[in-house]
Amino acid sequence: MKKILFACSEAHPLIKTGGLADVAGSLPRALAKLSQEIRIVLPNYQSLNKTEDVHFISTVRVDNQDANILETVLPNSNVKVWLVDCPTLFGTPGNPYLDESGNPWENIAYRFALFCRVVVEIAMNRAHLTWQPDVIHCNDWQTGLVPALLSIESNSPSTVFTIHNMAYQGMFPESTFSDIHLPPQLWNPNGVEFHNMLSFIKGGLSYSNRITTVSPTYALEIQLPEFGYGLEGLLSHKYSILSGIINGMDLNQWNPAEDKSISEPYDINTLEKKVINKTSLQARSSLPVNKSVPLFGLISRLVEQKGIDLLLDCLDEMVNMPLQLVLLGSGDKSVEQKLLEYARLYPKKISVTIGYDEALAHQIEAGVDIFLMPSRFEPCGLNQMYSQRYGTIPIVRETGGLADTIEDALPKSLSNNTATGISFKEANYGALLEAIKRAMLLYNDKKTWKKIQVSAMKKDFSWENSAKQYLALYEEI
Ligand code: ADP
Repeated sequence: MKKILFACSEAHPLIKTGGLADVAGSLPRALAKLSQEIRIVLPNYQSLNKTEDVHFISTVRVDNQDANILETVLPNSNVKVWLVDCPTLFGTPGNPYLDESGNPWENIAYRFALFCRVVVEIAMNRAHLTWQPDVIHCNDWQTGLVPALLSIESNSPSTVFTIHNMAYQGMFPESTFSDIHLPPQLWNPNGVEFHNMLSFIKGGLSYSNRITTVSPTYALEIQLPEFGYGLEGLLSHKYSILSGIINGMDLNQWNPAEDKSISEPYDINTLEKKVINKTSLQARSSLPVNKSVPLFGLISRLVEQKGIDLLLDCLDEMVNMPLQLVLLGSGDKSVEQKLLEYARLYPKKISVTIGYDEALAHQIEAGVDIFLMPSRFEPCGLNQMYSQRYGTIPIVRETGGLADTIEDALPKSLSNNTATGISFKEANYGALLEAIKRAMLLYNDKKTWKKIQVSAMKKDFSWENSAKQYLALYEEI
């Protein structure tokens, strides 16, 4: 049994801005089910969605400030959550990274530096909690100073640092280093200095015992200039302690047999009912109701990472093909406008909803035949897993977690029943269009299509699987 302290800046359902919260809300539960003693630590933001009892357990003094530690649990679990309570820093409205007006917190470096200092006090058993972890599992740049500060302690616990997205690094001007009173010995190119800037993520990468990221392919990709954002050299130097563990997905929330948001639940044995969800989706999207036309879907943040520009480049040809397309997303305003314009010009082919709509996301996963995920990079990705569970065949670009979770429908995988999707390599519209045409050919071969759907629905994307791999890693260090 390991004692694990899981440090993060967000955890679902307490607070969520992105995928990190899903991992932090699920992995600790899965580790607790494997009989591990795990505690989550995160800041006590004002906007935290506290539904369980919260009580004071301790006060620690760091950097001439008092911080309280409050205790609660992750809802519907016995996983303890320690909240770092410092009202002058975290007691104001906004999200973990942005203030009420949507601007990055002016004192964001100080906020997370203080959080990291408190994590270090807990790690060193100096927070009056009479509990010392064997392993501190840190996540993303907001926790990067924890391994750095622990490096100057003696007899400190082991550290694992997980990168959820290399695009976010926590970079600040050199002056911030002294403004937030960091120990001078950390300022060097093998420490937290990055080209005369302070880099929080480098604290995690330089000083942790193990580095992980959220898929094996992304672990290789971040060692290349295209994906490493200048840290590829450091990451390839650290290759022997760097690995990828694919995220699990929430099997309860995304279960076609018990999904309350969809018209007609179905499972692997009642796959014929999936079409009822298709016709409902066509009707609600004001598309012609037609069981046999291939229906494509996409749900995404509309940002460059997601390769929406590739899809935009395909649309002129797609509107002349026998297919329909349902899109849900929000983000880049010019992309939103372009998509809406296509929907206006081709109302019988394309339906576009701009916004964030969880019920519609479920209806799209259940209703469409083919799901599009042409990402330029994708550390792990969730929708391609949801799609497979819903017997919806994903078209993905072969990158990061997409490459690791989809088995491309090629002659070999089709003959041995392992094909679960369609993938393409190059990030250009020609390659995407080719994949779309390939999907349509396969779709018209009903027997083969059903085989792919069944293989996809049988795949195991449970958190238990991933938690066992993390546990093996904790045991190794
Ligand atoms: P990322 O974390 O990079 O946005 P992921 O595929 O890992 O991408 O996770 C995205 C999650 O957000 C999925 O659960 C997806 O269904 C959901 N999502 C994204 N955009 C929307 C939207 N407009 N409406 C509803 N859900 C959305």
